[in-house]
Amino acid sequence: MSRLSKYVFVTGGVLSGLGKGVTAASIALLIKSMGYSVTAIKIDPYVNVDAGTMNPYMHGEVFVTEDGGETDLDIGHYERFLDINLSKDNNITTGKIYSVVIEKERRGDFLGQTVQIIPHVTDEIKHQIELVVRKYGSDVAVIEIGGTVGDIEGLPFLEAARQLRLERGPESVLFTHVVLVPRLSTLGELKTKPAQHSMQELRRIGIQPDVLVARSSIPLTDEARRKLSLFGNLPPSHIFSNPDVDVIYEVPLRLHAQGLTRVLTEKLGLNYVEPDLSPWAEYVEKFSNPERRVRIAMVGKYTRLTDSYLSIIEALRHSGTSLRVRPDFIWVEATDVERGVINVRDLVDSVDGAVILPGFGERGVEGKISTIRVLREAGVPLLGICFGLQLMVVEFARSVLGLSDAHTTEVNPETPHPVVDLLSSQKGTIVKGGTMRLGSIDVRLVPSTLAWKIYGGAEVVRERHRHRYQINPAYLRAFEENDFIASGFSLEGFPEIMELKNHRFYLGVQFHPEFKSRPLRPSPIFTAFINASSSSPTH
Ligand code: GLN
Repeated sequence: MSRLSKYVFVTGGVLSGLGKGVTAASIALLIKSMGYSVTAIKIDPYVNVDAGTMNPYMHGEVFVTEDGGETDLDIGHYERFLDINLSKDNNITTGKIYSVVIEKERRGDFLGQTVQIIPHVTDEIKHQIELVVRKYGSDVAVIEIGGTVGDIEGLPFLEAARQLRLERGPESVLFTHVVLVPRLSTLGELKTKPAQHSMQELRRIGIQPDVLVARSSIPLTDEARRKLSLFGNLPPSHIFSNPDVDVIYEVPLRLHAQGLTRVLTEKLGLNYVEPDLSPWAEYVEKFSNPERRVRIAMVGKYTRLTDSYLSIIEALRHSGTSLRVRPDFIWVEATDVERGVINVRDLVDSVDGAVILPGFGERGVEGKISTIRVLREAGVPLLGICFGLQLMVVEFARSVLGLSDAHTTEVNPETPHPVVDLLSSQKGTIVKGGTMRLGSIDVRLVPSTLAWKIYGGAEVVRERHRHRYQINPAYLRAFEENDFIASGFSLEGFPEIMELKNHRFYLGVQFHPEFKSRPLRPSPIFTAFINASSSSPTH
């Protein structure tokens, strides 16, 4: 049972992409650092049941939880800031709420009633929030409502939040609003009008923000703060400046330095305990003062929206920071390689390592395969993740085994050499939502291999998965005879990790180690890769 049950809602105004998730995660971290148990919930007002069926260009990466939830990327921020594992229940969508309400209606739970947004949908929203709080027994839940205040989709969630405040009282429910305060380049002045309107819109639906976090390119001026206070109807001491930073883990430090932790405790009736944020300060210091830099090619097909690969970027930075190495990313759009816009040979001298990124479907595949070939032959450290590993396998079959039409059946179902093929568990699966091989699953390591050393000699490790295809074990012998060996297997016996002997670093994983990387506890796979890249001959 929850002991305190306090709720902090985080809403956003003016426009999306303001870093609401980072603000919510920072608030959760500050409360956790005082010794309270905290959980974090992301509400996504879209009608999809989960993020799994969405193109990354729509919403950034799909973050996979331990229990196999395909969730919004903000869940990744929460896990990294709080250093806890969350579940699929921590991501609530309109799709989830409506499917439950409609199921209940069909079952006859509301017999005789007209089923309405208020109270039935709003009750279900409050119920699902409550289920999460109860499941973890959390003192405090930080609940981020996605989108922007004023969106039609978000209204039932804001209404549920308003009701919760009415039911539980202001000492139990706090509203934080995150707004953009733009700076006009012509005048150099911070403009508060859009933020004023957004707060007005919130008040129109019955929500008065208690705390305002202002995102801006420069620190908030006194004048801007005065206006936000007056028109937002909240004291200047409850307005926090959150200017752009180099590293997101600086945000909680900045908010704390301005007194946010104290305001949160006063408003929620919590005991103030001076939080120890020194590990975070140390992380920021190390990140900001690297001893070396490495250039990492990021080879994928969603490279025009780098949020598509957020957890991988974060994981590379976590590992880099632990080694005092700053990774600089060179984005390689695979379709540009196919069109000849990028010449892969130029990469050989201009990068220290490359990541072949995860993905689905045909677009960009040949570009990735030709990139892999050139980098493998040139001895550039290379890490393949999921689809990246699968294409490393296709490339090797084609170039080294001489099977020129080898392929994954995902791209060519008719290939005579299906070196990557549909998982047997997936055969006959037609429904696309939530049906991949998902979540944390055991991987057995082969002693004395590189992978085994990377994981410190562990017998079995658990990593998160999201795939339908696998390396076809029928070809394994041929690969291994050519030094491309499997160093990890699923318990069912298919290869999960492949590595090339006699190469500086050439390793691919079927799983996604990025989802388990934490700033203060980086993933060993990424650390080994950054280490190999930063000890390249050009350094
Ligand atoms: N498309 C591949 C599969 O389904 C790889 C998935 C991924 O990269 N996450 O197996």
